[in-house]
Amino acid sequence: MLVRGGRIVDPRHRVDALRDIRLQGDRIVEIGEHLRLHPGEEIVEAAGWIVAPGFIDAHVHLREPGFEAKETLVTGSAAAVRGGFTALCAMPNTEPALDTAEVLARVSFPQASPERGIHARIFPIAAMTRARAGHELLDYASLLAAGAVAFSDDGSTVADARIMREALRALAALDRVAIAHAEDAAIKADGVMNDGIVSRRLGLPGSPASAEESIVARDIVLALETHARLHVAHVSTARSLELVAWARERGGRVTCEVTPHHLLLTDEAVEELGAGAKVNPPLRTAADTRTLRDAVRRGAVDFFASDHAPHTDDEKSGDIARAAVGFSGLEVAVGAYARALPDLPAIDFVALCSTRPVEILGLPGGTLDVGSPADLTMYSERPWRVESARFASKGHATPFEGWELPRRIEATVVAGRLAYMATPTRS
Ligand SMILES: [Zn+2]
Repeated sequence: MLVRGGRIVDPRHRVDALRDIRLQGDRIVEIGEHLRLHPGEEIVEAAGWIVAPGFIDAHVHLREPGFEAKETLVTGSAAAVRGGFTALCAMPNTEPALDTAEVLARVSFPQASPERGIHARIFPIAAMTRARAGHELLDYASLLAAGAVAFSDDGSTVADARIMREALRALAALDRVAIAHAEDAAIKADGVMNDGIVSRRLGLPGSPASAEESIVARDIVLALETHARLHVAHVSTARSLELVAWARERGGRVTCEVTPHHLLLTDEAVEELGAGAKVNPPLRTAADTRTLRDAVRRGAVDFFASDHAPHTDDEKSGDIARAAVGFSGLEVAVGAYARALPDLPAIDFVALCSTRPVEILGLPGGTLDVGSPADLTMYSERPWRVESARFASKGHATPFEGWELPRRIEATVVAGRLAYMATPTRS
C-alpha cells in the first residue's frame, strides 16, 4: 500500500512534513517524497490529511466475556477503527474477570484478527486481585506470559492499602504498570454525580473530589515507597494533578491520563442529560476542566484515553441512581480531544494519542520508522456531527450527541490493512 501526499507527524523523531509512506505486509518499508507506485499496490490519497502512527486507546471496556449485550471484541474493535484507533487496551472488569491466563488468552489479539472480525489490535489489562475483589494477589508473571500489558482492578479501587502495597511491590519487581482507579468507595457511598453546588440543587447524592484524591495520594505514597510504576486512570480533579506532579518532583514513576468527557463537560451536564451523564469519576467543575486542559498543554498529562464504557440503551436510561456508569467513547474521542484543545500542536496531539501510551505500556508502534508496524491513523480537520445511531459500538449513550466536532477520522490502517475509510464528507 502507498499512502500518498499526507502530512506525516511522528512525535518520536519530531517529524512534521509532507511525505509518502509505503507499507508492505504488516510493516512500514519506505518513507520519502514522491514515492513511485509499484505495480499492484493499493493507493490511499492522503492529501489534506495528517498521517500519524496508529492511535492507541489504553482504557476501554470491551465487555467480553460476560457482558456481550453491551459490547463484544468484534463490535468494540469496529468502533475502534472508526474512531481512528489501531490498538486497544481492554480493562479486566468482565465476567469472569481477566484474572487467569486462560481467560486472558481468549481476549488477547496483539495482531488483530480480521478473519474473526477483530480489526484492531487488542492488548488485555489483567486484574490486580482475584476476581477484582481486592483480597488476593495474582501470579502476575503468568498473566504477563498470557498477554497482559498492565494490571488494574479498574471499576473498583483496591480498598485494602496493605494489598495495594503488596501488589505494587510485586509489579515493581516485574517493572510493570499498575493502573489505579482512584475512588474511595466509603467516601463515594451512594453518590451518583460530583458533590457540589449542582448536586445540591438537583437533590442528588454526590461523590466529592476527595473520594478520588485521597486514593491518588495513598497510591502515590505507596508507589514512591515500592518504586512501582503507577498510572492514575481518568484523572478528574485539579488536586489529583497536583498530587501526580508532587510525586514526579520526588522521582516517582507516576503517569496519568485524561478522558474526553472530563476535558469538556462539567457536573452541569447531569442537569440536562441525567443518567446519560453518569460516569466514574463524575464530571466535575468548570475549574477542574480548565485545569485539566491547561495540564495537557503544559505536558503534565501523559496520554488521552476514552474510558469507552458501553451499555445497553435500557441500562443507560431512567433513574440516575439505578443507571449504569459510563458511556461509549471510541467513536467520538479524537473529535472531542480536538474540541477541548483546538490549538494543541499536531505533534503533541499525536504523542498523546499514540507515542506516549505506547512508551508507557511497552506496546509496539507509536512511530513511523521504517520497520515499525504498519498501523496508521489518518485524520482531517473537517467538522462532523455526532450521531450515536451510526455508532459501530453496541453502546449508543454519549454525552456528545448532536455535538459538532472539529476533527474527523479519514482512514485507519491496522497491520497493513485498510480497516476503515470514511465516506466522502457531506459537509
Ligand atoms: Zn476506572
